[in-house]
Amino acid sequence: MRAIAFREDRCKGCLLCMTVCPKQIIIVSNRFNKAGYKVVEVLEKNVDKCTSCAACALVCPDNAIILGPRKRRKKGEVADAREA
Ligand code: SF4
Ligand code: SF4
Repeated sequence: MRAIAFREDRCKGCLLCMTVCPKQIIIVSNRFNKAGYKVVEVLEKNVDKCTSCAACALVCPDNAIILGPRKRRKKGEVADAREA
């Protein structure tokens, strides 16, 4: 399962998720949803970089982000500075 997925119909393109992602993998896509908002995405090549830290999901005002299970990490590896 992907670590992250977007409910594009709910996205309002506020870009808050993009701002808080410690991996900087959330970008503006070329797609608009039915409401006319330009939605965000994580490129397939960057999906594995997502640590499921949930920063994006917590900040999203429209509950548009779905997170899968935390990425399994090697011993000693941390997802972001807050866990160190
Ligand atoms: S869960 Fe964390 S690492 Fe993954 S896209 Fe969201 S903010 Fe970035
Ligand atoms: S925070 Fe939510 S509504 Fe805003 S751009 Fe990200 S997914 Fe869309």
